[in-house]
Order: sequence, then C-alpha cells, then structure tokens
Amino acid sequence: MAHCYVHIPFCRERCSYCDFFLVPGTRLMEPFFDALLQETEARLCEFGSEPVASIHFGGGTPSLAGPRRIGRWLALFSDRVEIKGDAEITLEANPEDCRKHVMEEFRTLGINRVSLGVQSFSGRKLERLGRKHTPDEACQVMQEMLGLFGNVSLDLICGVPDEDMDEWHADLEAAISLQPHHISVYMLTVEAGTKLQREIHRGRCAGPDEGFQAEAYLLAVERLTQEGFMHYEVSNFARPGYFSRYNSGSWRREPYIGLGPSAHTLLKDGSGERRKANVASLVRYISAPYDASTGYELLTPEERQTEEVFLSLRLGQGIALQQLQVIHRQRAQWLEGMLEKFMLEGFLEIRRGRVRLTPRGFLFSDHITQTLLPS
Ligand code: SF4
Repeated sequence: MAHCYVHIPFCRERCSYCDFFLVPGTRLMEPFFDALLQETEARLCEFGSEPVASIHFGGGTPSLAGPRRIGRWLALFSDRVEIKGDAEITLEANPEDCRKHVMEEFRTLGINRVSLGVQSFSGRKLERLGRKHTPDEACQVMQEMLGLFGNVSLDLICGVPDEDMDEWHADLEAAISLQPHHISVYMLTVEAGTKLQREIHRGRCAGPDEGFQAEAYLLAVERLTQEGFMHYEVSNFARPGYFSRYNSGSWRREPYIGLGPSAHTLLKDGSGERRKANVASLVRYISAPYDASTGYELLTPEERQTEEVFLSLRLGQGIALQQLQVIHRQRAQWLEGMLEKFMLEGFLEIRRGRVRLTPRGFLFSDHITQTLLPS
C-alpha cells in the first residue's frame, strides 16, 4: 500500500519552538507550486500500479496554499495516479486560517481529514508558543471543522514554561469536550536555534520540566483512554477506526513518496528497500525540482531491522516477540534478561506474542528502543 506526503513549507510566522523546514511568509508560494507540479510529473512512475491509500498535505501550514493551488495539484495527481476510493486525504491547518467557506472548498476537492494545530486552549500557553490564534477561535473552528469533515484531529502541546497540572488538565478536558476523532499529544522540546531556546538561555523563562511532562503524559494517557481513545502510538490517540492512515503507514514502513523540499521517500521493490530525502532548501527546490533529492540509498538488512524495531516499539501494538528473538538469536539469554528487567520495571509487557511498551515505558522509549536495537 503506497502513501503520498506533500510538504508545503510556508507559515505566516515561525512559532517560538519550531525548527521545521519552512519559510515565513508566502511570497514564494506560486513558484513553489510550479516546482511541486514539475517534481510530481517527473516522479509519477515511482507510484507504480498500486492505488495510493493516503495523501497527507503537511508543513508548514498547507492550508495557507488555498484551495486553488491544492486543487491544481490534486487534479494533476488524480489524473495520473490511481487513488483508492476510500483514501484518507489530510490537510494540516491552523485555526486562524480556517475560514468556513474556504474549508468547504477544500472538502469539495476531496480533503476528508483535517489536522488542526490547536496546541492549547490557554491564552497564556498560546502566547508563549508564539501561536496566532486565541482559545475561542480554536474552539469555534474545531466545532466548524467537526461539522464539515468526518475526521478531525487536533494537536496539543504539554510542558510550556510555567505550565502547571491544572492548566494541562484544562487543555485535556477542553479537547475531550469537543469530541474530535483523533488527538496528538506532544511534549514541548527545546530545539537548537529556536526563539524559545534563546529565551531560556537569557533566563527569560524556564525550560520544560521533565518530571512535570512525565506526569502530564500519564494523565493524558489515562484521561484519553478513559474517554474511549485508543493509544495507538506514543503521541497519538484515536477513536476506533480513526488512526491516521498516512502516519500509521509510514510507522509500519509501508512505501511512501514524499514531494516538496525536505520530504522523505521509502520505496520497496524487487531490489530491496530504498530511501531518499529531498533538499531542505526552497531556493534549490524551486530552481531544480527534477533534481531535488540526495538520490536513493539501498537500505542494508541491518538498517531495515533497526528501523523496524525503532518504529514498532513506538506503536501501541508493539513488535512480535519472535522478531526480536530472530534479531538477537546470537544472544538469546541477554534478550530474555533485558525483557524481564523492563517488565519488572513496569516499562513493557508481553501479550499474545507481542512486546509492547506500557505508558510508563513510552516515557523511556528512546532508552528501551536503543537497548533492543540490533547490535
Ligand atoms: S504553525 Fe506549525 S509548522 Fe508553522 S511555525 Fe508554527 S509549529 Fe512550525
């Protein structure tokens, strides 16, 4: 099953914590779309004969591109590539850009899932994050989107400087009360070169408190699962039947083709698995969209196994015990000892032949995963 990701690297302004590849302002949107269409044309053959199961417009803020440009791309793509009848077509959007009539146009084009960058319902948190919408706007837009689309997701961020448990609890309850189909919960991290990092270095605010974030994460898991959301990936919760198909596909390492600057691709064919990344430069991308990537690299069996273990352990369904036993067949006793140790610590469980991290285990997923990677 193949998936398609389209990276639209524009935002009105950069949020204080964000280090994604993007450009503030939309001055280059038109030449970017011309380049995107050229890259898409040049790479149509990579999609093969299998219908595409999902298309994800990510960014950046793809909703800034507007229905006319997204429609132009979808017209080209759907004319040349078979898209499954029930394909998930997601648009990431920010509340301040979601005017109802514009979103109706997106829906007419075939967008059937909206992922809204709400982040918080607290004015103080939104200001600290450098977001442009207000809590009222977030609520109103969420309600409108739920009226328009049958599949709506919202993002929340936890651990903003000076956040306390009451504030986080209020965010969770506000999100739950809106009844979205999907919620992503991210812990704030301080990335190099961001405004947030500079503010912390200058002593203007405190960095995220890991102890608080751990407690807040466990509260999120408890409340969201109580409300019927399935915790299907370390940061993602969905009502049954509403897992993100694009993200699930990429976590399960199904083939995906990334278009646009900095987008990644994983292809599988008779010769093995190949990966490539597009250049993270808008200028280079616009000037040579046919030549936007680093070129394909064939993954070695060890690289494939490493990715599989790394990604599977972040999923609610975990990884087959047998797969770990094959990977570590030279040190079966060591594996048994490690799994027992992590189980005794309450970090993982083995059920129906699968090794799965517990909510507490997800807090240490990097360490546990590193330990269980092929040596
Ligand atoms: S809206 Fe999202 S992608 Fe854009 S700057 Fe903010 S966090 Fe980054």
